[in-house]
Amino acid sequence: MAPFMIPPAHHPAPQAILQEVFGYSAFRGAQAPIVEHVTSGGDALVLMPTGGGKSLCYQIPAIARHRGGQGVSVVVSPLIALMHDQVGALEEAGVHAAFLNSTLSSEQAQHVEREMMSGRLVMLYAAPERITNPRFLAQLESLNERGLLSLFAIDEAHCVSQWGHDFRSEYLALSMLHERFPDVPRIALTATADDITRADIIERLKLEEARVFISSFDRPNIRYAIVEKDAKPREQLLRFIRDEHEDEAGIVYCQSRKKVEETAAWLESEGLRALPYHAGLDAAVRQRHQDRFLREDAIVMVATIAFGMGIDKPDVRFVAHLDLPKNIESYYQETGRAGRDGAPAEAWMTYGLADVVNQRRMIDESPAGEDFKTIQRGKLDALLALAEATDCRRVRLLGYFGEDSKPCGNCDNCLHPPATWDGTEAARKLLSCIYRFHQNGGQRFGAGHLIDVLRGKVTDKVTQYGHQQLSTWAIGAELSEQQWRAVLRQLISLGHVFTEGEYHTLALADTARSVLKGEVQLLLRVPSVAPKKGRSTRVASGKTRSTADAPDLDFEAQQRFESLKAWRAEVAKEHGLPAYVIFQNVTLAEMARQHPHSLDELAGISGVGSKKLEAYGREILRVLDAI
Ligand code: ADP
Ligand code: ZN
Repeated sequence: MAPFMIPPAHHPAPQAILQEVFGYSAFRGAQAPIVEHVTSGGDALVLMPTGGGKSLCYQIPAIARHRGGQGVSVVVSPLIALMHDQVGALEEAGVHAAFLNSTLSSEQAQHVEREMMSGRLVMLYAAPERITNPRFLAQLESLNERGLLSLFAIDEAHCVSQWGHDFRSEYLALSMLHERFPDVPRIALTATADDITRADIIERLKLEEARVFISSFDRPNIRYAIVEKDAKPREQLLRFIRDEHEDEAGIVYCQSRKKVEETAAWLESEGLRALPYHAGLDAAVRQRHQDRFLREDAIVMVATIAFGMGIDKPDVRFVAHLDLPKNIESYYQETGRAGRDGAPAEAWMTYGLADVVNQRRMIDESPAGEDFKTIQRGKLDALLALAEATDCRRVRLLGYFGEDSKPCGNCDNCLHPPATWDGTEAARKLLSCIYRFHQNGGQRFGAGHLIDVLRGKVTDKVTQYGHQQLSTWAIGAELSEQQWRAVLRQLISLGHVFTEGEYHTLALADTARSVLKGEVQLLLRVPSVAPKKGRSTRVASGKTRSTADAPDLDFEAQQRFESLKAWRAEVAKEHGLPAYVIFQNVTLAEMARQHPHSLDELAGISGVGSKKLEAYGREILRVLDAI
């Protein structure tokens, strides 16, 4: 490299901005090269897991370029609900930012536009439909002519792809940014994209020339667990929450609106603070519930997948699934909302035969074309394989995204290797029984009756159809009903058996032949009964409990932590912002632990930037010393 190839002198060093504005001492993972590349005008596609620190990848270049006289950065973000908090967080850190969306009055909007057009604004957040609005485009053109349009950041970039899990047609129009503003650098970011989605993003956003930064998808602080559904899944859920996550914030995903409402009401009746969230609720109610989830401690949000996109609450301690997600991308995305702050968190799912049947049926019955359905089926199969796995969940999960890894030591299968049994023989019995039904008059039956016949249980239906005469009558009395369900679930997961019609009657796929011939071995997990105890630090000695984001505080530090939280709650309320925007729990815990006695000492704590030090430093020292 030539000796004079130093970064352009007019950009302040990103590292200095990181410390001064955000109070962090070092970049994480790939942040440093990304920030460097984008600050100096390069295009980038960034794939980084949730919690990896994507925001800084465009915020720091935006600040650096603004200080270098290059004007305003435009951040495209799909959720208007979130812009308010993101902008609030930047302003708290002393960065001039604003958003434009339909919640503003026309005076407010005009004020923002003036700030933008003068070039004073560092970052402007806007929804994609705003960007393509002709009037707004004209403003961008005018800024650009004056050299004051600095950067486009496109957040949640997977929304541009049909293959992604959250396609939004408004994102398609963003392809014109490159044509209209070829000299303005662009950075697109996403936390989920398999190969097809990734290629699609590059093509649709015309990012062929962009540098691609792919981080590991691993979320080491998330512990994965998938348990077998018993007769009362809600109680399984409650036990999980009570045993592992009492008084912590979490999200519970259900498939239907009705189930969301029922589950939330039931958890509430059990003494938890649970709120429902789904697209059928009144917008004001939804907003209120989301606000409470963000702003209060320890709320359990029971939701359909309508909830969560872009929720950047850092201290969500668990995500639970009462129903199977659509595919691994959705599972990864939804579970990824836990533990953004890096402290231990848990992804828990309970899953059973009905889930498999439901998901298969939803694909079969969807109006989509056959090609699309084939892809969806393949994706579902991968998820089912993850659920049935007897080896490391993380290895499988990362493997799906093309990453090799070693057994993680932080999933249910690593921590408590499940016992397995060879279900090959059982599978053959089950398949022949379906085959006999078929031969015997072409009649089809569902799982319940099949298992009754296998186990030799005399019922009205058995008598009615004369099934005691079948050669497969009572050939499987050695297995329990639950074991038979596991065998069937596995066979459906693997596609050897499929279900049809309203009554989910069972039929054999062509591939069943290979199992019947004994060419395929079926290893099944022995269902675990007791819920697994996870963290050992849950209950600290005596009166105080440590939480995952504030572990190992001694009694006095714990008291300081509580006082700081109380102080923060007041500030947050006054500013109309979620508490974590003022300071995150991890930062408050560090203050409580280190107990600084001067502004200088306080400034050394991670998460304390210069603006916050100036605004709150004295207050914090007062709160700390008052104890
Ligand atoms: P993402 O958007 O990728 O999910 P965020 O940008 O919300 O992630 O960052 C996740 C968390 O990590 C935030 O709490 C953020 O403050 C913190 N963080 C990001 N980068 C750093 C860093 N270099 N040092 C310390 N904390 C960081
Ligand atoms: Zn593992």
